[in-house]
Amino acid sequence: MKNRLRIDKTHTEIVPRSVIRRAMKFLKTSELEPPYLLMDKARVKSRARSIGKKIKNSTVFYAVKANSDVEVLKVINRMGLGFEIASEGELAVLASIGVEPERIITSNPIKSFRFLRAAAEYGLTYFAFDSKDEVRKLRDYLPGSNVYVRLVVPNEGSEWPLSKKFGVELDEAEELLLYAKKKGLNPIGLTFHVGSQCTNIYNWNSALDKAKILWDRMEKAGIRLTVLNIGGGYPIRYTKNVVDIQSIDRNISGLISEKFPKKTRVFIEPGRAVVGDAGIYVSRVAGKASRGDEDWLYIEVGVFNGLMESIGGIRYRYIVEGAKHTKKWTLTGPSCDSMDVIDRDVVLPEPEIGSLILILSSGAYTMSYASEFNGFAIPKTILI
Ligand SMILES: *Cc1c(COP(=O)(O)O)cnc(C)c1O
Repeated sequence: MKNRLRIDKTHTEIVPRSVIRRAMKFLKTSELEPPYLLMDKARVKSRARSIGKKIKNSTVFYAVKANSDVEVLKVINRMGLGFEIASEGELAVLASIGVEPERIITSNPIKSFRFLRAAAEYGLTYFAFDSKDEVRKLRDYLPGSNVYVRLVVPNEGSEWPLSKKFGVELDEAEELLLYAKKKGLNPIGLTFHVGSQCTNIYNWNSALDKAKILWDRMEKAGIRLTVLNIGGGYPIRYTKNVVDIQSIDRNISGLISEKFPKKTRVFIEPGRAVVGDAGIYVSRVAGKASRGDEDWLYIEVGVFNGLMESIGGIRYRYIVEGAKHTKKWTLTGPSCDSMDVIDRDVVLPEPEIGSLILILSSGAYTMSYASEFNGFAIPKTILI
């Protein structure tokens, strides 16, 4: 009997059935040779629509680094969302599809000079910062711009913590906002990031508590803040269930209306949650081997061309074209580098050489992270 793609409950509890169905239909009718990343348009739209819906006065700025494919960006652009960017490259893609400067913000606290020049030329006006040096850079390149300070907040329970690289504590945040004002910038608020793939709903509580303290202190110091930028961090399902967006937003919304003035403008910067579970990465099995007591499975995509997050602990769920019996595999990519190991002890149906393997929830931080290391091209993204 010919092997088939073995889909079961462990897949449909991770990704909506409709997404898997559309991918299957594509595979049936397409002649295109894998690897490629399929992105489900309808899923991106429904996720983009639901985030922030429960939070009053909120604007969503999609964090472009999660997936910067131009067709994906067009879908999000047509919905009228904003964008959060960090570089002249990201700005160039948005400019190419006509996104107005008013819909673009930058929350990278330390910006390159090339980017500052590009941002000034395009007319961007919202920027994060967390140092006096950055205030002086912004004063020189973008005088008068709107700035928000990045606070450090707890990242416990986030599978991809981000807090150590950026952010300041309360005293310094206060001092920096005052300094920004002195240098002719417009200090409008603050931002934080609870950590990417944040499965701990209480991170938002502690972050908002801290934000509130700064908010009140600034009021006393004569600066009335108006923008509360809560960053990203919404989780998606990889191999486990996670808190859903609605519950997170209900919690955030309650906390904001309890603590902050009614007119507070809330910025939200989701990346992963908009595109992550809309992606199915399609590849083939290139080889198998038994080495010692390990069974190795070599597939055509790996850590260097899309699955970079696997080395930081993200584990995926796979649909495999294989036999009925399963085996425990060490799953690895095509390059000659021994760091190129995607997953260990993963139980999968036994495939043949050339069989398909589908990687679920792979729409975020995959292609945007990919390199051409060892000559393996970055696979195409295809919208379905
Ligand atoms: C990466 C990033 C985001 C998006 O984070 P997700 O966890 O993907 O939602 C938002 N804001 C900033 C400043 C970021 O660096």
